[in-house]
Amino acid sequence: MNPILSDEAIQQRQSPVEMDARAFREAGHRLIDDIAGFLSSVPQYPVTTAPTPRSLQAKLPKNIPATGADPKALLKETWQLLVGNSLFNGHPRFWGYITSSPAPLGMLADLLASAINSNCGAFVLSPMATEIEKQTIQWLGEFIGYPAGGGIMVSGGNMANFVGFLAARKAKLNWDVRKIGLQPSQGKWRLYASVETHTWINKAADLFGLGLDSIRWIPIDEDQRMKVAMLDQTITADRKEGLIPFLVVGAAGSVGTGTIDPFSEIAAICKKHDCWFHIDGAYGGFAAALPELKDQFRGIELADSIAIDPHKWLYSPLEAGCTLVKDANALTDAFSFHPVYYNFDGEEETNFYERGLQNSRGFRALKVWLTLRQAGTEGHIRMIREDIRLAKRLFEILSETKEIEAVSQHLSITTFRYKPADMDASMDQEYLNKLNQSLLNKLQTGGEVFPSNAVLNGNLLLRVCIVNFRTSLSDIESLPAIILREGRPIHEEMQKERSDVS
Ligand SMILES: *Cc1c(COP(=O)(O)O)cnc(C)c1O
Repeated sequence: MNPILSDEAIQQRQSPVEMDARAFREAGHRLIDDIAGFLSSVPQYPVTTAPTPRSLQAKLPKNIPATGADPKALLKETWQLLVGNSLFNGHPRFWGYITSSPAPLGMLADLLASAINSNCGAFVLSPMATEIEKQTIQWLGEFIGYPAGGGIMVSGGNMANFVGFLAARKAKLNWDVRKIGLQPSQGKWRLYASVETHTWINKAADLFGLGLDSIRWIPIDEDQRMKVAMLDQTITADRKEGLIPFLVVGAAGSVGTGTIDPFSEIAAICKKHDCWFHIDGAYGGFAAALPELKDQFRGIELADSIAIDPHKWLYSPLEAGCTLVKDANALTDAFSFHPVYYNFDGEEETNFYERGLQNSRGFRALKVWLTLRQAGTEGHIRMIREDIRLAKRLFEILSETKEIEAVSQHLSITTFRYKPADMDASMDQEYLNKLNQSLLNKLQTGGEVFPSNAVLNGNLLLRVCIVNFRTSLSDIESLPAIILREGRPIHEEMQKERSDVS
């Protein structure tokens, strides 16, 4: 039986998701108060309580409710759920992976963006938002010294790299790949990246039809930079065999150790072999703005495309990534379609749905644009510089600590491992890896500090990456004692197990 709705009900609708101004204000003020209180006391929280999935499931409602509830009460309950059971990358001692502390203004910007709810797929649906996004893209290029002809905001580094990859695929594959697709007989295309490249490249080669075998992994030197002589040799040998090189990827801050590949040399090789040059600057791209690092980033301006990640070193709350391209047409060439149901044809209007993978798009640029204005280029340069300085100080402190081996230091990433004082010949790589793995697990669940890991030459290392404007020297100085306090008992336990076995 169909339920009957009276005309009255649809004349004066009582929508259960609507909130009147008073209810909205009350719930909103309360939430903002909670967040402000949290922000001013975040160092007093554990970095994480490392809860188990099962313990969390027990805290969630059992069923989807048939009838609704009061928004204010829901927000209050949800605030407690999240603040009591989360990992806080805004904590001064969070140094894991590459996730930054979120800038508070970015939080408010996301709220504002949601309130206007601009659909940044098309100009007519997001007039001011589209112009702000265009300006943000232009500013990001200027900030890092990259002459961008265009670009697009995306959800993060993976997506930003995918956009560059697809632009390269369209620009360099010399048949109409957008019409006839990737033909098996064309399975000769090769791309080149250092062995340290982030896994986005595996995903891209797989998902976008080239296949994993199309990736040529170029070895690294003792500074973890791509060996460009090997790059040239590999491309030359591939061409001799009838294979077709089309893309080279360099890293502006590799994900493991933060190294910067030699861009000028790579660009020259790309030119020689007619390859697209893409830079993955998801982690370190913004450090190109520092005058003292200009030398290391030399050649960044020669790339055909670059991926950068404001939710890393610009401290945007998740999610915010960005692709910049040199050629203004590169993105529309790769992505544009004109469906009959769109009336988006203004000559001067930018419609971002034509420039990337998404159709409807949120207003990610707002938080980036506002934070750029809040801190200015000088403020951002200072924060990045301080993060790097802290990572360097950490390296020095660890180098001076007995039982700790400091291993690498690039940009704001420092790697090291715990190495017991009574090391003997039987404590090989395998033993140290196991010891440091257990230590890492202990640290990541302890709530005091949060490092992550890197693997270099088969050695499992602890890794601190500081993209955190809340971290200060005293936070860094606390680390060696924590490593020794947690490392020694694990070592003793492992020794005991060994003697029990033998
Ligand atoms: C973080 C990172 C990525 C992936 O970026 P997401 O924002 O996590 O999608 C890719 N490359 C490098 C070098 C990175 O550091």
